Amino acid sequence: MVAPDDGIAHVPAMSTISTETVNEITPDAAKAELYAFAAKPVVDPRSDLVGLERAELESVITEFGLPRFRANQLWHWIYHRGAVDFDLMTNLAKPIRAQLSESFRISRPRVVSRQDSSDGTIKWLLRFDDGNEAETVFIPEDDRGTLCISSQVGCTLTCSFCHTGTQRLVRNLTAAEVVGQVLLALDELGGFPSAGVNRRLTNIVLMGMGEPLYNFENVAAAMRIAMDGEGLALSRRRITLSTSGVVPMMARCGAEIGVNLAISLHGTTDEIRDELVPVNRKWPIKDLLDACRSYPGINNARRITFEYVMLEGVNDSLEHARQLVALIKGIPAKINLIPFNPWPGSAYECSDPEHIERFAQVLMKAGYASPVRTPRGRDILAACGQLKSESHKLNRREQRAVAAE
Ligand code: SAH
Ligand code: SF4
Repeated sequence: MVAPDDGIAHVPAMSTISTETVNEITPDAAKAELYAFAAKPVVDPRSDLVGLERAELESVITEFGLPRFRANQLWHWIYHRGAVDFDLMTNLAKPIRAQLSESFRISRPRVVSRQDSSDGTIKWLLRFDDGNEAETVFIPEDDRGTLCISSQVGCTLTCSFCHTGTQRLVRNLTAAEVVGQVLLALDELGGFPSAGVNRRLTNIVLMGMGEPLYNFENVAAAMRIAMDGEGLALSRRRITLSTSGVVPMMARCGAEIGVNLAISLHGTTDEIRDELVPVNRKWPIKDLLDACRSYPGINNARRITFEYVMLEGVNDSLEHARQLVALIKGIPAKINLIPFNPWPGSAYECSDPEHIERFAQVLMKAGYASPVRTPRGRDILAACGQLKSESHKLNRREQRAVAAE
């Protein structure tokens, strides 16, 4: 594929980039050309239909002069069938398709790179229209396939053990960019609902880059779109949002989207947690656990997951394990011990496996089953907390190109 060399990615060609082509067929030079193409900012004056909630799509389409049922048809094409091109929408008359594609688009993030781990995990580095990047990871297991999505470019919080927290540039992802990660993964893996049974992607975790409760409106819109029964139809029971502890937003999360909640606890005293998860200085452990106790919809069948990263000599003693059990007593809970995943320059070490085992024994005796999470995709730096992109502001040439459009 030849991209016009004017610094701007021209949109109609975008949906033709397939990483399968990139990974398997194209020679290296062509790959480099494709990735260079993906790296360019996109200027497309048409408004995006992806990311609009159902009622918003209806009002956009009726304001455009088409009847309401056309919005339902579009919803079906976009989310049930995965269409990116109006021309494929055979139940719309040709002139309507042409009219729609003049004013609207169906966006996808562009794939800058795709890495396949030896354990089946796939990591995509995605680029959005303004050139910013975020990562998305697919983790296949025997009985499910989980997509780990990002909610922000980078993260404003600076947890001391997390690579994402070291990234300088941060912005919220839009609803289109959040749900776009799911759409892109389905393009690549297959498995839009129209394809029938055997969906490879069954679960979503908001555990990629960013703090989802600092971008609640967009994340909530994206999840409501993903859960809509006439579109992607993912069940709320199969969606988990992980927060570092943004206490004031937790009740809204439960009430408005009702997804499962995971809490990045990581420390059993405010002193330790202040250091590891600095947002603890604003909302300390007691407030956090109170908000967990009153999380809407919480019961024994729907537990809160407490995530606990195992850091050698910091939070991993047997005393810490006992404190952990005492802290969460009375909250319907699961515990995930996450072996620390080191990244270049990180200041911690992972607790040794025997140590983790002994810690886990204390939890198991207290009734928490299989608490250790096996890290996935380590060979491609896709494991928890290792995601970090090199997002940058547009360079001068890119800015000039955008301005000239
Ligand atoms: N910002 C949210 C969600 C993204 S992080 C949050 O903090 O909850 C997903 C999980 O990975 C969190 O529990 C986070 O604390 C953990 N994590 C971050 N860096 C890690 C690392 N280097 N090793 C292991 N887990 C890490
Ligand atoms: Fe942000 Fe979560 Fe990383 Fe903390 S652990 S810096 S909240 S992404």
